[in-house]
Amino acid sequence: MDIAEGTAITSGGMAAIVGDGDSVTARSIDAPQATVVSNAAITATTGNNERLQFLDISLPRRDEHGTMPLILPDLARSVGCLIIVQAERSSRPPATPASMYVIGTAGHVDHGKSTLVKALTGIDPDRLEEEQRREMTIDLGFAWLRLPGGRQISIIDVPGHERFIKNMLAGIGGIDAALLVIAADESVMPQTIEHLAILDLLEVTHGLVALTKIDLVDEEWLALVRDEVRDRLRGTSFATAPIVAVSARTGQGIDDLLRTLDTTLDHVPSRADARGRARLSIDRSFAISGFGTVVTGTLSDGPLRVGDEVEILPHGMRARVRGLQTHQTRVDEARPGSRVAVNLAGVAHQAIRRGDALVIPGYIQPTTVIDARLRVVASAPHVIEQNDRLELFVGAAETPCRVTLLDCEKLAPGEMGWVQLRLDRPVVTLRGDRYILRQPSPGCTIGGGRVMDAHPARHRRFRPEVIRMLEALARGTPADLVQMALADDLPHPWSGIVQTSGLNDSLAREGLAALLETQQALVLAFRQPGTFHPGLDPAKSGDAEAPEPGTLISGTGWRMLRERMVAVLRQYHARYPLRRGMPREELRSRLNLANEALDDVLAYASTHGDLQSEGAFVRLPEHEARPTAEQQRQIQQALDLLRTAPYGPPAPDLDTELLGWLVERGVVTRVTPDVVFLNSAYEEMVSWVCDQIRDGGSVTVARFRDRFGNSRKYALALLEHLDERRITRRSGDVRIRY
Ligand code: GDP
Repeated sequence: MDIAEGTAITSGGMAAIVGDGDSVTARSIDAPQATVVSNAAITATTGNNERLQFLDISLPRRDEHGTMPLILPDLARSVGCLIIVQAERSSRPPATPASMYVIGTAGHVDHGKSTLVKALTGIDPDRLEEEQRREMTIDLGFAWLRLPGGRQISIIDVPGHERFIKNMLAGIGGIDAALLVIAADESVMPQTIEHLAILDLLEVTHGLVALTKIDLVDEEWLALVRDEVRDRLRGTSFATAPIVAVSARTGQGIDDLLRTLDTTLDHVPSRADARGRARLSIDRSFAISGFGTVVTGTLSDGPLRVGDEVEILPHGMRARVRGLQTHQTRVDEARPGSRVAVNLAGVAHQAIRRGDALVIPGYIQPTTVIDARLRVVASAPHVIEQNDRLELFVGAAETPCRVTLLDCEKLAPGEMGWVQLRLDRPVVTLRGDRYILRQPSPGCTIGGGRVMDAHPARHRRFRPEVIRMLEALARGTPADLVQMALADDLPHPWSGIVQTSGLNDSLAREGLAALLETQQALVLAFRQPGTFHPGLDPAKSGDAEAPEPGTLISGTGWRMLRERMVAVLRQYHARYPLRRGMPREELRSRLNLANEALDDVLAYASTHGDLQSEGAFVRLPEHEARPTAEQQRQIQQALDLLRTAPYGPPAPDLDTELLGWLVERGVVTRVTPDVVFLNSAYEEMVSWVCDQIRDGGSVTVARFRDRFGNSRKYALALLEHLDERRITRRSGDVRIRY
């Protein structure tokens, strides 16, 4: 079954499909076991040992979804034989480039952004339209290329003001760098300035300027424009950005631009290594026949893998990742910082909207209240007042909201303040995400900044403690702040940590969770048993059962404390080998710990096998109080002596440690420093006294002495001891019941 090279699809008889890997497995309807034998899927052998010639039929290959498998149903209708080409995952490494960056273009309309993107990437955004006609809509607002240095970059090219903002925010983590395009013939125009202001607001500090269309101007003019641009950049986040002169038409300067892009990215940390959990802010959701639901977006925070269970927020629908693509390449794992198309199983595309977020289940809760630092742009048309109604853009989401000014009466253009935003619709965002506030009509950007707390309590205005907490958050992440509160390496109660960090309970939990994951902190005990849920504020969730951390300590602090404890106990055991352990109180003062902290420290250490806590004593697990053979002999001698006169024995000739060992084991009872009874004799005397009092109401020293035939010294010692034990009480000359 040979197909002549160049056979067109429409000529019927055969479908020819090119796979995207070195080794592919092909199946056809009539030859299910077909195996490709060549490396670029040029030829294959069918189950019937027929060789198949695969032809590159110039299907659009640059999409995010592997268009080829997607169009199979169409092919099946038009050709006699259907072959599905599937990359054999096991046989080739996942095509995940090590570093991925997202670059956003900016600049005045018609200044040549799209043309430049095409010149850089070879991807023509115009073919979008054609693809849409063919109902294979895949968001191709994104072009990509590999820079000379090997980095993979996605370029987000978007005209139109609102889309510009949304795409600048895309992927929540935002873009890594911006390419500001300025036409050399027109120089700086109003939108150039506006976009620059937004880049500034979004804190996009990395980027470069492309002075394009230089084929239209002479050298002298170009120099003038260069100066003007440099002037305009002064005082903005682009003040030191490189300016590269190019012509998309002639190709002049394009190589220079690519190289400069590469060096610019040298200073931008790659997000590809982020170790968090995947979060994809969805900007498209659609279905492809034969494929199902596909969503696209920029991945942030952590990697996403085929087979992952995911949750679509804010609705909380569950789905599974069936396939992943980055820059037209199928991958098993998508890295943060890259543009991703996700094929989902278990959810209808209509149920997902732009602005929804795909996350690893349980990772994030949607929110309707946000605390943030707001910077009002200098060009804002008016002052922001309490309760103003504005439009919030965060990630790919947008929602109307109201502004509570927390620390000021008004915010004038150019000013900054703390705000609480109350949202009409829930969004998914995390601390540190960039956001923009716009006035709905006439549409214009008012200000923006970064989300400081994505799950705050509702605040009253002008509360110093609220401002203190927000100021604290501005200094560091919740994890930083909890870590700082634990920096003295001593155990602290949870309430102390919350207070010192300046955070509220749920943020402090968020910070703690991060430290627990990296073992930088330990929870020695929980006040309430259960599993620790980061970010869950028991007060807010109303879940009284939610476990509350008890005592915490830094990872280093714990290692030091444990070492110290073990050393102290070892020393104690060496000094007092016959004692069962060190009294807790003594250990507490040696370690200089608070009582409650000691309980938690001991509980944790004994659960982890570092020591044994037995009532009022603490010992090392391996410690055993055992007398030596010589000591055993001395003990035997002493006991024999005690037995000779059990009720009036001579003081045993034992050192205090050996005597203590016998007392501890209940062999003897010491009633005064030199009156020691065998325990059996002691018990007998005590019960006699109790019986006497029960039957006759009292007992005297004389009667006791007569009964046991011992001297007044012993009788008195025992009765006084019983007074101390509150078994008897002295009343005149007699003992009565206590
Ligand atoms: P955008 O709105 O910024 O994306 O601008 P476009 O890329 O659509 O370009 C606007 C117009 O400028 C188009 O007619 C382009 O052909 C033209 N153009 C873009 N780049 C160049 C260039 O380097 N040289 C010349 N002569 N024309 C250009």
